Amino acid sequence: MPKVRTRYAPSPTGFPHAGNIRTALFNWLFARSQGGDFILRIEDTDIQRRVEGAVEDILGSLSWLNLLWDEGPYFQSERLSYYQEAARKLVEEGHAYPCYCSPQRLKELREEQVKRREPPGYDRRCRYYSWEERGKFEGTTPVIRFKVPLSGEIQFRDLIYGEVSLKCDTIDDFIILKSDGYPTYHLASVVDDHLMGITHVLRAEEWLSSTPRHLLLYEALGYSPPAFAHLPMILSPDKGKLSKRTGAPGVAELWRKGYLPEAVVNFLALLGWAFDDKTEIFSMDELIARFSLEGVSLNPAVFNLQKLTWMNGLYLRKKSPEEFARLLLSFLDRDLSSSVRRPLDPDYVAQVAPLIQERMRTLGEAAEATSFFFMLEVNFDPSLLKKSLPLLKMQTTLKVALENLELLSSFDTSSLEKLLRPLAESLNLKAGDLFQLLRLALTGRTASPPLFQTMEVLGKERCLHRIERAIMTIEQNVPSL
Ligand code: GLU
Repeated sequence: MPKVRTRYAPSPTGFPHAGNIRTALFNWLFARSQGGDFILRIEDTDIQRRVEGAVEDILGSLSWLNLLWDEGPYFQSERLSYYQEAARKLVEEGHAYPCYCSPQRLKELREEQVKRREPPGYDRRCRYYSWEERGKFEGTTPVIRFKVPLSGEIQFRDLIYGEVSLKCDTIDDFIILKSDGYPTYHLASVVDDHLMGITHVLRAEEWLSSTPRHLLLYEALGYSPPAFAHLPMILSPDKGKLSKRTGAPGVAELWRKGYLPEAVVNFLALLGWAFDDKTEIFSMDELIARFSLEGVSLNPAVFNLQKLTWMNGLYLRKKSPEEFARLLLSFLDRDLSSSVRRPLDPDYVAQVAPLIQERMRTLGEAAEATSFFFMLEVNFDPSLLKKSLPLLKMQTTLKVALENLELLSSFDTSSLEKLLRPLAESLNLKAGDLFQLLRLALTGRTASPPLFQTMEVLGKERCLHRIERAIMTIEQNVPSL
């Protein structure tokens, strides 16, 4: 058996969304699981549709996800001579021919076909020109079209879709080389898959209908074709076409929002592949060990970002405290308001980290969730608690709490708890009401990580200062008190 060689062959005509990257992942996993090679090829022959920055985005996405390639990236735009040579050979051997039809003629032809309700396609006029007739077009650069057999059927076995067949008379004489010397996708793909020794072509289902054309080219060129495996469609959550607009962000966006590469890989692996009917969490090594084409389903997969977010939370919780703190530091540094002094103190961030590691779903949420640890002041809005506690009671409670906290010599979680629980009782308050009031004064919020731990991390000085400010706020805002 020859060594398995797969490839990912994106066209840089846009920034791929995460669903598109699934094709790269499956090729990568298949190659790795078979001890084979994974090749990266940029199919940039459509110069009009090339998008600035798309190549960098593709390379960056693969690198971040750790889907590293063994060869490449090859750029088709740098390999034109191979395609031109193949086209020349095909013409010479009678498998292809120059076509001189003007765009205007082709347009009219199409319009007529539409009017007559015929399937649109080239009418093969130039296919039957004699040498003399061709001579008349001297000076016009033709396109090269492939001579599709007029009858017969193309059959092949797709590793996922099974037996596929297509009648030749439904395929028109497609262009293989444009007049500017650039190949079309069909020719370039076949020539490169052959020259690069690709053994397995795993690609999106949308290319299934191109495969019969490719097989005709393989035969005419005298190449033996690779195996084909077309991957099931990925749909948006509303079962429509998947796009960035319908819920599939780009990989760079996932990175910016604080998703982890291992969570993204795990999530993408399950878009059309399963190991069994229950296991959902796979490390990269487990994926390599378990991945197989038999596990790829025919049914469309659904791209559900909420599932990725859930999975990301799981992966965040698996991080060691040190690693989580390091990641947190970099996201906080990026996202916290510029009013927070930089550089951030890594030791302080490491104390904050365990308080949110269990709750966090993406690192992009971290700055919002922890800003009160870093701001100089927080905004105390007593109206948030007015229902459970009259203002006057709030004020006296905060004053008593302040006096007691000032006296506390060690400001750790258990001393705080030992002080504050009985204090609620002595003030004739439900413990929950006291804690909510302190939480609001200390964090500016009604929801936060556990109060005593939060206080310990904030430290005595910050806590006392914030409670004093809360007391002042009540006095200033409610003069009638
Ligand atoms: N360039 C094509 C794409 O962007 C590749 C199709 C294939 O894998 O053959 O999807």
